[in-house]
Amino acid sequence: MGDLLQRPRVAVHKFSSCDGCQLAFLNLGEDLLSFSQQLDIIFFAEAGMMDTAQDIDIAFVEGSISTAKDAQRIRNIREHSHYLITIGACATAGGLQALRNIAKTDDWVQAIYTNPEHIDTLDKASPIREHVAVDFELWGCPINKQQLIGLINNLSLGALPFEETDKLCMQCKRQQQACVMVTKGSPCMGPLTRTGCGALCPSFGRDCYACYGPAENINGEALARRFEGIGLLPEQIHNRFHAIYSNEAAFQISPIGNKKS
Ligand code: SF4
Ligand code: SF4
Repeated sequence: MGDLLQRPRVAVHKFSSCDGCQLAFLNLGEDLLSFSQQLDIIFFAEAGMMDTAQDIDIAFVEGSISTAKDAQRIRNIREHSHYLITIGACATAGGLQALRNIAKTDDWVQAIYTNPEHIDTLDKASPIREHVAVDFELWGCPINKQQLIGLINNLSLGALPFEETDKLCMQCKRQQQACVMVTKGSPCMGPLTRTGCGALCPSFGRDCYACYGPAENINGEALARRFEGIGLLPEQIHNRFHAIYSNEAAFQISPIGNKKS
């Protein structure tokens, strides 16, 4: 990692995604200008850098793998990158588009497209780590500016950052915020969700819908039973769990609280 201290060569790649996590780079504003002194950003199509030279010190990857061409491209990126870091729910966990994994590919392709023969897709949308080794995963949908600044500062010092896996509930307690589930009966996903957002939604009196992914040591069955207790119907509980992170085992909970086999 020593040479990373000397203006590392950086690429930002996109796969199946909405571009929201790449926008976190552009939203850095003045910080991006100062990072551009520290980093040599050679490939970032959304920002106009298109140098296709292959050997890279840090490859940031947004999006999930949906086609055989995607799978080949990510293997090529891995082969030529010293560090490969996934950014956002799509890249770390398959994202919203992994909802399609619940249905059979032939069924939805036939139902949606007029000319299904033109659809070239793998059977499921999958996270990057199912295809190549990943050095660090930055969770969120989208990731935020503070996460990115912390990550880039660590990389500039030659280290990978500490992975924050605390539950959102811990962040609420640290900020002395009233629990929205206890005080308002809101179906908050905070007990399953990793912190990283500063408990943004509870700080505005709203329940969390888990956009930062699973925390460590979580108990989905218990939370599903709690949601039943505050009056959610089985379908509503199912929808709470099967949203952005439907592809993550930790969120694959049935409405009656049994984990999928
Ligand atoms: S994680 Fe969310 S914001 Fe980021 S690319 Fe995927 S859908 Fe967009
Ligand atoms: S509180 Fe939950 S839904 Fe809101 S930003 Fe944070 S992780 Fe996302």
